[in-house]
Amino acid sequence: MVNPRPQVAALKPYHLPDVKASIILSANESPYNLPQTIIDEIKSGFDKIAYNRYPDPLSLEVREIIGKHYGLGLENVFVGNGGDEVILNLYLAYGGHGRSAIIFEPMFEVYRITGQMTGTEMISILRSPDDLTAVNVISQTYGMPADLIFLCSPNNPTGDTVPVGKIEELLNNTQALVVIDEAYAEFSGQTALPLLSKYSNLAILRTFSKAFSLAGLRAGYLLASKEVIGDLLKVKLFFNFNKLSQFITKVAFLNRNIFEEKIKVILDERERLYSELIKINQIRVYPSSANYILFRTKRDALLVWQDLLSRGILVRNCSNQPLLENCLRVTVGTPEENDIFLDALREVV
Ligand code: PMP
Repeated sequence: MVNPRPQVAALKPYHLPDVKASIILSANESPYNLPQTIIDEIKSGFDKIAYNRYPDPLSLEVREIIGKHYGLGLENVFVGNGGDEVILNLYLAYGGHGRSAIIFEPMFEVYRITGQMTGTEMISILRSPDDLTAVNVISQTYGMPADLIFLCSPNNPTGDTVPVGKIEELLNNTQALVVIDEAYAEFSGQTALPLLSKYSNLAILRTFSKAFSLAGLRAGYLLASKEVIGDLLKVKLFFNFNKLSQFITKVAFLNRNIFEEKIKVILDERERLYSELIKINQIRVYPSSANYILFRTKRDALLVWQDLLSRGILVRNCSNQPLLENCLRVTVGTPEENDIFLDALREVV
């Protein structure tokens, strides 16, 4: 019989339920496809690509463009197939057997799964049980021996951010590489970027999947010291980021101002959704700085989830995560989708 590594044998496959819905509010994607001007620019570059040739293994051009925007060099930027691949490379470089990573649960589950997959010891710190924020529990890690710390801000799924001052305090109290996952930073307006020049043990993760409407492409990047980026370049697959991804992310990033309009619509809708949700007595709503909102139902969340699905609406059931019993997470959709969701939720809670 074939015999996987024990870490793999112990893993449960991370698959989301395979269900069909007409309104998808479950994956924190943008409800808007790429703006037409960007699609047109992609189309016009499409037939100039030499598909027969391998891509630039170092993605130099796109790394340079991203770096320049932040006042950094390409040696401070790593790109990969979504934040997920960047996280895997972080574990390949800094985790593994005999190494450890700290996570603040509940948070983005990929940190734990990828950590276990790579044989990294996971140290789980629970967030504050009442408001689910991380800010008051971070100090528990000070002085703890660890190789990696993942801190998500805004946190998925709770929506809270960690003040930059608190992140700086953490950086001063650990030897670990601190990864601040800012996948949703375009919706929070808060970032640890100003700390990058001061701390070589800080890395900031970003993605094209949310505010940039490119979840289907798979593209993300990490900003960090040249030493950290150098380590990641050693472990990544040789041609990890394909030609189309390099081209499309370049077009999207150079046109980043075009995305502002829809980000603003999503932010307005988040506020409207929140103000409507807090009027519903049967749920507790958690404030959010991202493009989703977490809420706790009095009724069994699985039943609420099923009743929403039977009305064609898919949200995320987070109830299996620590501290999140009966919690559902809804992504901010278009105004029409949000109205349909709100009407349905009022009926089923
Ligand atoms: N970080 C967080 C907090 C996320 O929620 C996600 C996606 N859900 C990612 C990273 C990774 O996104 P992607 O792989 O699509 O870039």
